[in-house]
Amino acid sequence: MKVEYIVNQVFTSRSYILSSDDGKSAWLVDVGDTDRILERLSPETRVAGVLLTHVHYDHIYGLPSLSFRFPDCKVFTNEAGLSCLIDTRLNMSRYHDDPIAYGGDNVVVVKDRDRIRLFDDVFATVYETPGHHPTSLCFRVGDRLFTGDAYIPGVKVVTTLPGGDKILAKESLERIKVLAEGLAVLPGHD
Ligand SMILES: [Zn+2]
Repeated sequence: MKVEYIVNQVFTSRSYILSSDDGKSAWLVDVGDTDRILERLSPETRVAGVLLTHVHYDHIYGLPSLSFRFPDCKVFTNEAGLSCLIDTRLNMSRYHDDPIAYGGDNVVVVKDRDRIRLFDDVFATVYETPGHHPTSLCFRVGDRLFTGDAYIPGVKVVTTLPGGDKILAKESLERIKVLAEGLAVLPGHD
């Protein structure tokens, strides 16, 4: 598996690209500038799914264009993500003049400790880490931990946006720090 990322134009959020060894299949962790993500992939690569670290505009705004290019692409979020993906206030897209209301059969709801098969023997384990947002999830893939905005080393967790919760964020942060021991932390912003 190859892991790389791009820095998106909106708020320098990151989109990670996880590609299979044979290059035929890829997964994303969050999706911003779809065009630039696709530039990194070969034309025959199929994006199988997106793991959403949380449903904030700067981490999801590429979903419509990605789904247009890959109609079968699955989108993984938690229960709260179902409503946030279609609510332009909770996902904050309305404040960016780019309202996103995303739903449908491709959205897959996951919960704490679920495992998602990415490639043959590569799995992502889900950890629910609310506080920054009710949809905040961390994903462990091998010795990497994708933390979104729930843990950006050296940066205080933002809890002042709609759906933020300071107490939950503190609890989640403690959990993440234990989880992250011995792992490479890959956060949601540059
Ligand atoms: Zn965020």
